Amino acid sequence: LEQYGSVLEEQLDLHRRVGSTAAKLDNDHDLAGALDSGQIVPWFQSVVDLRTGFAVGFEALARWHHPTRGLVSPVDFVPFAESSELIIDIDLEVLRLAVKEAQVWHEHQPDLRLSVNMSGRHLAHPDAVAQLQSAVAQSTVSPHMIFLELTETSSVSDGPLIRRHIDDVHALGFQVLLDDFGSGWSSLERLVILEPDGIKIDAQLTKYIDTDRGRALVRALSSVARDLGLVMIMEGIETRKQAEIAIELGCTLAQGFLWSRPQSASAVRRLVSGDG
Ligand code: C2E
Ligand code: MG
Ligand code: MG
Ligand code: MG
Repeated sequence: LEQYGSVLEEQLDLHRRVGSTAAKLDNDHDLAGALDSGQIVPWFQSVVDLRTGFAVGFEALARWHHPTRGLVSPVDFVPFAESSELIIDIDLEVLRLAVKEAQVWHEHQPDLRLSVNMSGRHLAHPDAVAQLQSAVAQSTVSPHMIFLELTETSSVSDGPLIRRHIDDVHALGFQVLLDDFGSGWSSLERLVILEPDGIKIDAQLTKYIDTDRGRALVRALSSVARDLGLVMIMEGIETRKQAEIAIELGCTLAQGFLWSRPQSASAVRRLVSGDG
């Protein structure tokens, strides 16, 4: 099954490489139906301690098990979902299912953290905090073990509202990471305005880690993170060399294909329980 999982992931990569415009899924009816029938599920990628390579937690990444298209990447439905409130239902469904998995992991490894992605549009919604609270209410997993990875999609004008909601989710115990840091829309100002608990350095930046400029930037960011007491996770580490440079630059946590691709929930259960 694990092999099956990685084959699916490879297909998914291929799907990504060949470009998916033709297969663009832009039907909210389909997506809403998919949610109702349980076709949207989390897969999980490990977050590792760079020095040991051991998993300290897992990030939940949405996958659509489409009846005819096979395994569909979030790249092909999340941006569309973000244009409506469907993204809220996706985020919450992934959170509910992921928390169930974390509860199982904790029977074996109680220190494992869970990361889930959350669209800025979602966190800006008036009901966001209450919904998050109820999504984990039935679970034994404490919000203290959960990182909400805030993906940048909302407009700057949402800033104050998002900040207020971050204060509210902090009060519930959740921690907040800024996702895709250092690329696209994410600005340094957000570190000050939103006061997150950490940042995830985007793979787009990791790619330059073997250049002088890339190294200087990552070194500076890891120093900022240390000064502010922030968690910092390097994303998209694919080679041993990149991992070694990251350690030299003061990074402690990372994710990437070097250690593992996203895997199905059942594969991760087996991994965590040491069974297979
Ligand atoms: P992200 O949160 O920044 O997740 C990292 C993406 O990089 C994942 O793609 C992951 O599979 C991929 N990745 C991990 N390691 C490597 C590596 O070593 N090399 C390369 N090239 N890529 C790597 P994925 O699973 O396709 O997710 C894409 C994006 O979709 C996520 O980016 C996130 O922004 C969004 N997303 C996924 N699930 C959800 C969700 O439940 N809710 C929301 N709002 N967004 C989600
Ligand atoms: Mg993420
Ligand atoms: Mg990211
Ligand atoms: Mg990303």
